[in-house]
Amino acid sequence: MSKLKVRYYPDPVLKASNKKITMFDKSVRKLAQDMLDTMYENDGVGLAAPQVGVSKRMMVIDVNAGSEEHPRRPIVFINPVILSQEGEMTGQEGCLSFPGVYFEVRRARKVVVKYQNLSGQELKIEAENNLLCRAIQHEMDHLDGELFIDKAVSAIQRDLEMAKQGLSEGDVVELETKLKEEAGQTISISKSKSMVS
Ligand SMILES: [Zn+2]
Repeated sequence: MSKLKVRYYPDPVLKASNKKITMFDKSVRKLAQDMLDTMYENDGVGLAAPQVGVSKRMMVIDVNAGSEEHPRRPIVFINPVILSQEGEMTGQEGCLSFPGVYFEVRRARKVVVKYQNLSGQELKIEAENNLLCRAIQHEMDHLDGELFIDKAVSAIQRDLEMAKQGLSEGDVVELETKLKEEAGQTISISKSKSMVS
């Protein structure tokens, strides 16, 4: 079992461009296994290669990670592409590259994605209004050097959570006051199971 080092924000590798995988050899299988091991050990449901310092278009997801009643169900996505997306959903997200930071993020409600498996075979997956749907979009963003901090429903909530973890300059007390003011103006912020990936 080999555990890789998770890269934390603002490590520049998180913003770098990531290369398509063209050789489906032993090294790719080893990377996938190491990424899964690292994801499970860090209690994540998803992990993208750039998060372990590897600039390649691979990501792993297991929405049953950490579940006691459901067996593990890992999926390795190589060179994933979104074929279609529709609707909108909001829910709380975390990211292994931002320890302790959670906030509401807006995503498409349904996605259809094609990807290759470890044999290079092309597969298609559809996910709607669930954790898998959210995780796929979060990890695919990583492959494009995009981070969830740019998709927050509330910039104030994001800044507050970032400030609490010492990842941004903002003043926690001031941001808490602002967030309360903002919450008074919105009807409600939907709550759903939080995700770390
Ligand atoms: Zn992430």
